[in-house]
Amino acid sequence: DALSVDFPVHGGLLRREVARLRAVRDVSLALRAGEVLGILGESGCGKTTLGRALVGLIEPSAGTLRVEGHDVATLSPDERRRLTRDVQMVFQDPFASLNPRKRIRQSLALPFDTHGLATGDAREARIRELMALVGLAPEHLERWPHELSGGQRQRVAIARALATQPKVLVLDEPLSALDMSIQSQVLNLLVELQQRLGLSYVFISHDLAVVEYLSDRVAVMYLGRVVESAPAARLFASPRHPYTQALLASAPDPDPRAARVERPLEGEVPGALHAPAGCSFHTRCPLAQPRCRESVPELRIVDTGVPHAAACHLL
Ligand code: SF4
Repeated sequence: DALSVDFPVHGGLLRREVARLRAVRDVSLALRAGEVLGILGESGCGKTTLGRALVGLIEPSAGTLRVEGHDVATLSPDERRRLTRDVQMVFQDPFASLNPRKRIRQSLALPFDTHGLATGDAREARIRELMALVGLAPEHLERWPHELSGGQRQRVAIARALATQPKVLVLDEPLSALDMSIQSQVLNLLVELQQRLGLSYVFISHDLAVVEYLSDRVAVMYLGRVVESAPAARLFASPRHPYTQALLASAPDPDPRAARVERPLEGEVPGALHAPAGCSFHTRCPLAQPRCRESVPELRIVDTGVPHAAACHLL
C-alpha cells in the first residue's frame, strides 16, 4: 500500500491537536539492490519526511513499508532492530548529527553499542577500516567534531552509517551544508562507496545536477506526492510533468546558448497544512484547467515501453 505520513498540529492555550498535516501522501516507490533512487523537489515537498519514514525514525500513518518482502510493521522488536542495521541514514548537517561532546572515536563506537556489534580489538580494527573507507586518517579518531572541517565531519557521518554494514543508505541532502569546493569530493566518495560496497541509495536533494549525475531513477515530489518518476536520463531529457519542466527550467544553465523551456517556476510551495485541493500544483501551474482544482491526477505511465510515470490530467 502507498505510504502516507501525518503530523499533529497543536494550538490553543492547552496545545490540543487542532489539525493534522499530511507531509507525505500516497507515495509508492521501490528501490532495487544496487540502485540509486533520486528524490527531487523544492524544500517543503516531503522529501525529508519520506526519508525519515524509510529508516523508521517516523511511523507512517498509512501504508506499508517492506524491506526484502517483509512488512516492517509486523516484525518483532528484535527483527526490526536487525532491519535498521540494513537501512541507515546520513543527514544534511554533519555538525548537528555528531555529538559535540564526544570525540570521533566515541561517535563511531555508538552504532556498535546500539546494535551489539564487534567489541575490543575487532571493534578497533573495524573503526579504523571505516575511517580508511571514507578517506580519514586514524589520528582523526581522537579529534572533537569542531576540530574537523565540514567535509571531514560528513565523512565521519558516512562512516558511522556504514558501521552496521547496511544495504541501503538514505542520504538527505548530504552535500548542501558543505562548501562548493568540498561537495564534489564527498560526491565522488559516495559514488566510490556505492560501487565498492554494492549499496543502494535513496538520494534526497533539490540539486538537479547532482541528482542527474548520481541517480539511476528519479522521483519528483511536490507537496508530499510523487508527481513524476522515470529513469534519470529520461527524466532530465524529456520531463513530462509541468512541475518537473518548471523545476528544470528554473535551474541555472551552464550553457547560455541552450534552449530554455518557456515556463520557469514561479511562486512558493504552499504550506502542507493548506495544500490546495485537486492537483496540488494547480496554484502555480501555467496550464491549470478547472478540473485540476477538483480532482487529483493519478500517477500513470506516460509512454509505452518506458517506466516513465507522471500525475497530470493533461497527459
Ligand atoms: Fe497543471 Fe493540471 Fe497538470 Fe496539475 S493536473 S500539473 S494543474 S495541468
